[in-house]
Amino acid sequence: MKKAIHLRRLRVKIGGRVQGVGFRPAVYRLARRFNLTGFARNTSSGVTIEIQGLPVTLDNFIAILRTNSPRQAIIESLAVEKIKKNNGEKSFSIIKSKHSGDLRAGMPPDLAICALCRRELFDPVNRRFQYPFINCTDCGPRFTIIKSLPYDRARTSMASFKLCPDCRAEFREPSDRRFEAQPNACHVCGPQVRLVGANFKKIAGDPLAIAVKILKAGKILAVKGVGGYHLCCNALDDGAVRLLRRRKNRPHKSLAVMFASLSEARGHCEISAEEEIELKSVAAPVVVLRKKTKSSLPKNISPDTGDIGVFMPYSPVHCLLLDKISPLVMTSGNKLDEPIAINEDELKNILGMIADAALTHDRQILRRCDDSVLKLSGKSPIILRRSRGFVPASIRLPVSAPPILACGAELKNTVCVTRGDRAFISAHIGDLDDFRNYRFFRESVRDFVNLLEIKPETVAYDMHPDYMSTRFALGVQGVRREAVQHHHAHIASCIAENEIPGQVIGLALDGTGYGEDGTIWGGEILIADLVSYKRAGHFKQYPLPGGEAAILNPDRMALSVLAAEFGADARKMINKFLPSIRNTEAGALMEMAAHKIHSPLTSSAGRLFDAISALLGFSGEITYEGRAAVRLQANADRSAGKNYRYDIKEENGVLVISFTPAIMEIIDALEHNLPRDYIAGVFHNTVAAALSAVCGMIRERVGLNKVALSGGVFQNDLLAHKLILRLKKNRFAVYTNQLVPPNDGGISFGQAAVAAERSITRRS
Ligand code: ZN
Ligand code: ZN
Ligand code: FE
Repeated sequence: MKKAIHLRRLRVKIGGRVQGVGFRPAVYRLARRFNLTGFARNTSSGVTIEIQGLPVTLDNFIAILRTNSPRQAIIESLAVEKIKKNNGEKSFSIIKSKHSGDLRAGMPPDLAICALCRRELFDPVNRRFQYPFINCTDCGPRFTIIKSLPYDRARTSMASFKLCPDCRAEFREPSDRRFEAQPNACHVCGPQVRLVGANFKKIAGDPLAIAVKILKAGKILAVKGVGGYHLCCNALDDGAVRLLRRRKNRPHKSLAVMFASLSEARGHCEISAEEEIELKSVAAPVVVLRKKTKSSLPKNISPDTGDIGVFMPYSPVHCLLLDKISPLVMTSGNKLDEPIAINEDELKNILGMIADAALTHDRQILRRCDDSVLKLSGKSPIILRRSRGFVPASIRLPVSAPPILACGAELKNTVCVTRGDRAFISAHIGDLDDFRNYRFFRESVRDFVNLLEIKPETVAYDMHPDYMSTRFALGVQGVRREAVQHHHAHIASCIAENEIPGQVIGLALDGTGYGEDGTIWGGEILIADLVSYKRAGHFKQYPLPGGEAAILNPDRMALSVLAAEFGADARKMINKFLPSIRNTEAGALMEMAAHKIHSPLTSSAGRLFDAISALLGFSGEITYEGRAAVRLQANADRSAGKNYRYDIKEENGVLVISFTPAIMEIIDALEHNLPRDYIAGVFHNTVAAALSAVCGMIRERVGLNKVALSGGVFQNDLLAHKLILRLKKNRFAVYTNQLVPPNDGGISFGQAAVAAERSITRRS
């Protein structure tokens, strides 16, 4: 009797980000390797595979599928069922889908160049040798070249480039790495680079070779990348870095540095295993690293800190450039605080003014997308800017709700649009007080709403009446409006991304946020869930003499604190420790603060850090937001052990954290000439100790054990680290932002989470 072959057939349904990322071709190659038959196709919810073969082979196939899917794929669900055998198939194939898939749930961001393309780029016998736009299904631009969905070449800025026969063959061959790679291109048929001088005239010769010469001569080059232009210069040339700073009017803020390779970066910076993973990740963000003392990078790249923002070449253009000259300073191609330039028209604002020449190309950038920035605190990331490489990947909300548009805050603005339980956060937009950024904000809202094909039913916004984002929200007609208090939004962002059920103790520390009582909040202890919050405590309030102006002048904030704590005795200290404030000015400012003239009260933690930074002489001129606090942290002695005293008192049912005793001790320490770095370190410990103590008091009262940290102050990883250690030691469960920034870039997501939860609660 002939032995029957025990074939089995399975249907595998896969959900997640599995379309437009080379998933089906990977399945195809795998199935062919194992001699399995069947098919794969896109469905409205992901990819469905039917696969037939020997049971043991099928098991292997599924195991490999789970673990070795394409690097861009994110498998969120994988369901396997046994079905009836099919005896007609001879091989495995990819079937055209009946429905156009709902790509939105898994729309991929721009992807850094993959290892295979990189190898081909430098392979002299490859037909794409040194082709600056090489890509495959595993890498290349996505979000920045898509006009509309679904993601098809005809709807991208590659539409104007007609595939040559060789590229077309790759595009159509399922076993090829470039099967349906929409931006596929080569020397023959694809985009080309071009070098133009300050007068916009084309410079003859090899564009890359001349660009390298320009950089080597210490000049500034604009380079068109993936999400916009960069301004570049030789990072080892102190003169070039100075020139760039002067022309960009950016005297102090750190500049990012791109290295040709990880090993080269390691020569200048400490890189942990976790940091290495981030640097090599497909998002290729700027990762803030500790600079080695032996590094030959000029101090001027990050004069305020011992850290360097480092990233790897993520587009082939970068690879080719960095291969000839590395490291390069690479900073956003814009004038200070404007949106990054993406086209020739916007290039006019920087070329000739800041850049001496521009390495540009004819593949249009359709969406502005700045580089993302993150740093690691121990093993967990702190995202400082979530943009290129992350956008438009969605973040899951705890509930599914009717569509929401959340307008974000005023500074570091992003917007967020929801579809079901998915939140899509825009690229970094910037500070809306600049009209060009506000225009970009409006474009981004329109673009996201169109791209996701939603009609917002709810518009969420900050309570601050003067934010441009608030004014915009109030102008949208025919929607429900949902005002969300600023610090509630911060804490909600943390609750939502960590999917924390129920209430938490929320520590929301930042520079400024509009409080419901009309004062400026910023050192807030909330008891919150996604629907509502109660202000359980806050930092002691001080007058902000001259209002917002005090933000630009930390010495004034320090004066205000001294005047409040020491009354008339403050005068001597002001003279001694705040030499920038003239005697007459001191009197006037003290008068203003005392009589509350143009001096709103604030409980801001950011302003307290400003004041201490000023007292210790660290703050300097405020040429970028948060500089005083950045310098206080950078100077702090991390090994300082003790902490100063503080006071927590209940006033009208609210706990008020006062650092008055600490300020007395700091003045005393200054009088005794103790090292300022040490004082800064002890101050960090003190804030951590006070916050941990206040959490303990709240736990005793209401029994909550979960603490959520958010707000721009938590970009300070020294404070975050010290606080988390204390809270964990006190057996609190601690949650931080890991998917969205703790700064105001995360506000839109928090607003969306609150609006979503409220709309569900209202319904039930
Ligand atoms: Zn590739
Ligand atoms: Zn071609
Ligand atoms: Fe904030």
